[in-house]
Amino acid sequence: MSAVTVRVPAKVNLQLGVGPIRDDGYHDLVNVFHAVSLFDMVTAEPARRLEVRVQAAPHSRVAIDGVPTGEDNLAAKAARLVADRLGVDPHVTLRIRKAIPVAGGMAGGSADAAAALVACARLWDDRERPVLTRDDLMEIGAGLGSDVPFAVLGGTAVGVGRGERLTPALTRGTFHWVFATADGGLSTPAVYGECDRLRQEAGQPAARPAVAAELMTALATGDAKGLGAALSNDLQPAALSLRPSLRRTLDAGRDLGAIGALVSGSGPTCAFLAETGEDAADLADALDGADVARQIVRASGPVPGATLI
Ligand code: ATP
Repeated sequence: MSAVTVRVPAKVNLQLGVGPIRDDGYHDLVNVFHAVSLFDMVTAEPARRLEVRVQAAPHSRVAIDGVPTGEDNLAAKAARLVADRLGVDPHVTLRIRKAIPVAGGMAGGSADAAAALVACARLWDDRERPVLTRDDLMEIGAGLGSDVPFAVLGGTAVGVGRGERLTPALTRGTFHWVFATADGGLSTPAVYGECDRLRQEAGQPAARPAVAAELMTALATGDAKGLGAALSNDLQPAALSLRPSLRRTLDAGRDLGAIGALVSGSGPTCAFLAETGEDAADLADALDGADVARQIVRASGPVPGATLI
């Protein structure tokens, strides 16, 4: 096998319920993940050693300077884990073309890790019945980060625990999104820390989160307006506290006709829902003119997880 390329989607959290901190230091989460058609591409090629090369995808304005190219890259860690499981040398060049914003709250690093799991498994295990199943790859991915199993799975899914125990959600049709990316990322641990700080300051201990019934009904019936009304993110106040300019971005999207608006995950990317593809195109044009983002990107969901192409 000479080279394997995998396409992997970004995610937006339709609901991110953040509960109390557990004994192991993680928060109890309810996380409704939704994979959208904003993709990184990862190509795995046989090489003399493990090597990572990162570039921005064509037409993308992703700033890649924060992405490590050595062993710290999540994709390299994923390749090593697959090699260990298969008992082979992790000798591979991973070429990553990024369109998912870095430290943007859309799980780009986790996506690349998921892509590397799928690509390396194929590269090193091309038997008709591969040793490693998709479930195995999701389990290996859970050891790298809570968002990795979802990037393998894709679609729409409910994650509980640290977010890594997934159940696919029933959805109907396609939802149309517009994303506003920001200059500079937000550190996920810093946003969780700010969330805890704000709660403590307000004297509001975290309640145990539960899946929002209205959200699941809107997904199952393909009701975009219902989905827009049910979107929620417990990390949003913390992201806005650390990056107050996001308030202006969210307000602009709402004023320009979005039927739902929220910070994606730990931010700073903002996600806007439109009722139709045409509405999304109009909203994207209007937001482009409003000068509230680094880049305006349209996408739709749900889409499949890491896919060989
Ligand atoms: P999440 O939504 O899962 O919290 P995020 O989208 O906010 O994550 P990422 O783009 O996944 O953030 O990156 C967070 C950090 O991880 C980066 O700043 C970078 O240092 C590191 N990193 C490691 N591997 C990668 C990779 N392949 N792509 C991007 N960042 C990576």
